[in-house]
Amino acid sequence: MEFKKPTILVVDDMTTTLLLLHDLLKDTYEVKIAKSGTKALEILESPNDIDLILLDIEMPDINGYDVCKRIKNNETITHIPIIFITGRTSQADEEYGLNLGAIDYITKPFNNAIVKLRIKNYLNLKIKNDMLEKLSMYDGLTNIRNRRYFDETFEKTFNEIKRDKKSLAVLMIDIDFFKQYNDSYGHLKGDYALESVAKAMKKCCTRSTDISFRLGGEEFGLIYIASNQKEALVFAKKIQDEIHNLKIEHKSSKVSSYLSVSIGLFFSENIRDFSKDDIYQRCDDALYFAKKAGRNNIYSIDTLSF
Ligand code: GH3
Ligand code: MG
Ligand code: MG
Ligand code: MG
Repeated sequence: MEFKKPTILVVDDMTTTLLLLHDLLKDTYEVKIAKSGTKALEILESPNDIDLILLDIEMPDINGYDVCKRIKNNETITHIPIIFITGRTSQADEEYGLNLGAIDYITKPFNNAIVKLRIKNYLNLKIKNDMLEKLSMYDGLTNIRNRRYFDETFEKTFNEIKRDKKSLAVLMIDIDFFKQYNDSYGHLKGDYALESVAKAMKKCCTRSTDISFRLGGEEFGLIYIASNQKEALVFAKKIQDEIHNLKIEHKSSKVSSYLSVSIGLFFSENIRDFSKDDIYQRCDDALYFAKKAGRNNIYSIDTLSF
């Protein structure tokens, strides 16, 4: 894996402090600087790769406390550790700053070596935390996202789409006769087949909003923003074909000589009419009908009458 230097954002209205910290950290880290609270928020509220923030308190526009509050209230950046570096030396100020969620509070003038060591320690913790967070969201076997991530993403995507009145497709994909596959070829080959299926699904997810998941066992899920029913169906067909084209021999399957999948497809142009649980249930129902209708096929829920 490519090693990337951690990125630190230094926020201070005094050029001398910015230069001092920049010189101190530039050899070990990627250092970005902001000369005001406004500028810092502008950087942080755009897509960024900041790993740690060094934040002054007294600044003319937005002070450091308010910058900290804004960061802590923003879901996408709330996890970035903040260290106050400030001329305010009272214990009341320190307590206030730590209460806002900063991980540390360093007073000026500071000792260069100690500041560097503290930053190193916090970044090590942050990197470990990020890794754990990532591991808890990914499936260990297939390396695609897991059920936990699906639940979270589904909730988020669902709310966004509801707000923007966009349409959505959700696919539930289940390998056919997989128990027999394991029985015929062994569990290890079964694992390998699951990995290959996940890879094939991932290959079809070309936009950042197309996300594939392993929901559990030999069942997968996919969130796909399609603009109409036909597009959703074409995508489901593409997934089915991609998996068929892996040409994984399956001699005990009753529907195909290769490993195949059944797909339950939900699509709606107006998902405001549905609840999240509704959609999940309908996907599950569609998959059930796909299995019942013979497997190795796609069943779209809109063809069902409830
Ligand atoms: P259907 O066509 O109705 O979907 O039948 P099926 O045999 O695929 O479904 P069933 O639910 O009866 O069996 C699922 C099988 O998936 C049983 C289980 O051993 C296997 N399986 C689940 N997780 C794993 C895994 O991580 N590795 C392997 N190798 N097999 C797994
Ligand atoms: Mg200042
Ligand atoms: Mg199955
Ligand atoms: Mg299953």
